[in-house]
Amino acid sequence: MSGIFLHVRQGFEADAEAELSRRLSDIGIKPVRIRGVDDSAYIVADLDDASLTRAREQLKFSDLIFARQLLWTTSVIEIPDSGDRAGALIDALSKSQLPVLGANAYSSLSLETPDTDTAKELSAWCKSLSRPVDRDLNKLKLLPKGKGAAHLPRAHVVFVDSRKAYVAFSDPANSSPWVMGIPRLKFPADAPSRSTLKLEEAFLVFLGSERLPDALKPGMTGVDLGACPGGWTYQLVKRGIQTTAVDNGSMDSKLMSSGLVIHCREDAFKFRPLETVDWLVCDVVEQPSRIAELMGEWLSRGFCDKAVFNLKLPMKKRFEEVEQCLAALTQQCADAGKHLTIKAKQLYHDRKEITVFASVINH
Ligand code: SAM
Repeated sequence: MSGIFLHVRQGFEADAEAELSRRLSDIGIKPVRIRGVDDSAYIVADLDDASLTRAREQLKFSDLIFARQLLWTTSVIEIPDSGDRAGALIDALSKSQLPVLGANAYSSLSLETPDTDTAKELSAWCKSLSRPVDRDLNKLKLLPKGKGAAHLPRAHVVFVDSRKAYVAFSDPANSSPWVMGIPRLKFPADAPSRSTLKLEEAFLVFLGSERLPDALKPGMTGVDLGACPGGWTYQLVKRGIQTTAVDNGSMDSKLMSSGLVIHCREDAFKFRPLETVDWLVCDVVEQPSRIAELMGEWLSRGFCDKAVFNLKLPMKKRFEEVEQCLAALTQQCADAGKHLTIKAKQLYHDRKEITVFASVINH
């Protein structure tokens, strides 16, 4: 049966399932079946044809917090464990529903697995299969020759074990640009902590690479709450942004010598800026409701109009917690006459947490 396949972070299947059920119900869709197996790093929803058409029109990848990638499944294939497996895969694909969109309908074909600790062997095998499959692919006439096909859907074959795969496609305008939703970001050798990749990914996901140069540029100002040792401050400083780093800990000395950082050893919940800043970023480890309230105060009182912050989610019902926090933040700002655009995502570099981008809508 056709439907939806979501790549999610391993251990977050129940949250993704609760969220997908809610989003489908919001657009009047009741899935035939929806299932997320614990620790499988994916969930699948089976939909009837009418629901699938509606979901493809109305379900937005950017609204799904716990989904790393959104795929539309066409069929499930089985290929044998031994023999000419590449040939068997091509054969199975030709009989699958993948050619349903017609000849030359896809820009690429990706052989992938859910992102689990145990899928390493399977993903090495997918890599080894890629070349022979590529060679045989022209038999299927799925991919146009030459460049310029980036707007076309991408074909995906997701092996959930060594024999069984979901055949699917993604819409470039309604999915992550990265295979399995995993950006391959290089850790900068001079960054003070690996957390720097979280903020780098957040800027890419929420602003997009085209908007980045204008949204974050020299001459701007920022505040980083819970800044030490400075991985998030590093992302602001590398874009020439004058940053106030608020934390009782120690900041990286090289970052301090940039001349762009003021270190305030203060409590993030008490610190208030003397002037409005362009950006607030916050990675303080605290209850999510307290962080949301703090962000609400900054945004509603006009201390900033853009904030990127992390909500740590050690609890069980994470989707419900996130919904409550974001609803409270929205209400707190609305009460002060400020309306927000909120985008939230569990990024690849997030662990038991999500990252949120909130910005005030200026009319
Ligand atoms: N974003 C940082 C980076 O990239 O290097 C890592 C931040 S770490 C996850 C959390 C930081 O929050 C710690 O340095 C801790 O000292 C700080 N913190 C926790 N509670 C705080 C508070 N009430 N006020 C200020 N900083 C706080």
